[in-house]
Amino acid sequence: MRPGEQVEAAPAPALQRLSELVRRVNSSTDTADVLEEIVHGVCDVLGYGVAAIARLEGDTLVMTAVAGPDDVRRQILGRRTPAAEIMDEYRQADRWGILRFVPHGRMSEARITAAWIPDFEPDADDPQAWHPEDTLYAPLYSATGRLLGNMAVDLPPGNRVPSLHERELLEMFVVQAGLALSNAQQREELSEQLRLGSTVKEVAQAGSQPGLDAILADACEAIHRGFDAVQVWIRCYPDDDAGSSVAAGHPRPGLAQSPVAALRADLAARWPTADPIAVHISDRTSVLSAESLARLQQMMTSVGAFHVAVVPMGVALDLLGYLVVGLNGTRGHLGTAELDALTEIARELGRSVQTARLLETEQRLVSELRELDRYKGELIATISHELKTPLTTIIGHAELLGELHEHRSVEAISRNAERLNRLVQNLLDYSRVQDRLASVRERVELVETCRSAVDLVALLAETGEVEVVTETCCEEVVVTGDPEELSLVVDNLVSNAVKYSRPGGTVRVEITCDDAWARIAVADAGLGISEADQVHLFSAFHRSSNPEALSIPGTGLGLAISRRIVESHGGRIDVDSSLGRGSTFTLALPRRFAPAH
Ligand code: ADP
Repeated sequence: MRPGEQVEAAPAPALQRLSELVRRVNSSTDTADVLEEIVHGVCDVLGYGVAAIARLEGDTLVMTAVAGPDDVRRQILGRRTPAAEIMDEYRQADRWGILRFVPHGRMSEARITAAWIPDFEPDADDPQAWHPEDTLYAPLYSATGRLLGNMAVDLPPGNRVPSLHERELLEMFVVQAGLALSNAQQREELSEQLRLGSTVKEVAQAGSQPGLDAILADACEAIHRGFDAVQVWIRCYPDDDAGSSVAAGHPRPGLAQSPVAALRADLAARWPTADPIAVHISDRTSVLSAESLARLQQMMTSVGAFHVAVVPMGVALDLLGYLVVGLNGTRGHLGTAELDALTEIARELGRSVQTARLLETEQRLVSELRELDRYKGELIATISHELKTPLTTIIGHAELLGELHEHRSVEAISRNAERLNRLVQNLLDYSRVQDRLASVRERVELVETCRSAVDLVALLAETGEVEVVTETCCEEVVVTGDPEELSLVVDNLVSNAVKYSRPGGTVRVEITCDDAWARIAVADAGLGISEADQVHLFSAFHRSSNPEALSIPGTGLGLAISRRIVESHGGRIDVDSSLGRGSTFTLALPRRFAPAH
């Protein structure tokens, strides 16, 4: 108390207004409304010309509530001041309890220019006269001592420096403003916790979706909603180096090709550090490489994001991918609680990705095993059937022979022994050509090879009433390879075409060549092969499921042997067929085949 000052009783209207305010502060959830009431109370009942409250948003104080003349309100409402500047000023100020007073002459020139200064001449005869450059304000703190805002007053009652009693009254309003901001902050923190908690939960629930694509798509949507983001991207790196990466995005879709390829190396170098990396659109440097930073900033521009958080995603020592959350300019930086929630989300996603991948591998293995099992069953059925039929005949005729010395039986025995012999020969050929390169390198003339194949099936063709025609682009088409093996392939294609033709059909054998390749196309207009059967056509022991084709004897080994031989010569064999319409098998062999080492 200054000498000569009197203890005054608080005027009744001020106390009444205060008690109303206390009730409002404790009951209202409309912070803006309460702050308005406080600044108006300061002007109306305490007699200040101007009262203003600024709220801290990030590291900036934003003028939120102003009472006073209209032109002043218009000028300073919404004004943004870096909190650091005000903190500096607090250090220059005289401490009046919770108020801070900076007398004129002590304020920096820069602040004078930035602040609102009333336009009047101070009373030179009064030592307590208020000066236009005097500043009186109070920091508004939370219960835990965090700065939440600032309340400033100007043009005090009587235009004099406020008395102790007046300051005490002002302090009571300041306390209410602090409480109002503190309550608002607690409410915001609580709703933020709820929002983040439910986002983490939604992402965890997305993990129960079938398939990685659905998991990532749902997670992107949940994060987009929960963080009020402009864009969310998630990328999962390939399972092993051979696989492809999986990408998702919301609201724009993820890009199939990694837009920031260098990011993987950056994140891998930091992993298992899972902290989010914040990047601003105007950052010049970052913990990320210059290439990643530039590429990320391009992506940010494309979606209108000012800040992004890049969060690595992984489990234990494995980095599985990353998550990028893009925010617009008004949304501000991500707070600590949000960054923690993102780390938790990335951890959840990492676990979901790992589980989904394990499940996918398991499902693939199960279906491969099923396929293998089916194949094994088919193989046993084919071999036993093929062995059984000629054996039954051989045994039956041998018995007959013993009894009757029948000429017909000798013939049947030798025919069926021949059939068994073919099967065994096929099996031997098949095992011989497995996993090896053709070792014989001789000149093979394909026109001649085709003619021999056609001669070989002449009897079969005649019996089946099938015409076989040969067309050739030139007299001779020469390749290098194993003549016996290549004959085996052409014989098989031509005999199949005849075997699976209908009476009256025509088989065309066409030889063409260019500098690099020689091609033999064997076309028939016979039974054809369904698309489902074409998938397995070149697997050993596979026979078409079509009953008409199955009724024709065969082992399902010819095409498997053919493909192996052709590939060992650096060539390829393809089929173009439709069920009921016929098939064309094309054999392509390189003209100059490098010798085997
Ligand atoms: P095989 O003819 O001894 O059964 P292949 O391996 O040569 O064995 O052929 C496998 C299967 O492919 C055959 O069982 C048949 O069902 C089908 N196939 C092959 N060539 C033709 C063709 N030209 N027309 C229709 N089906 C064919």
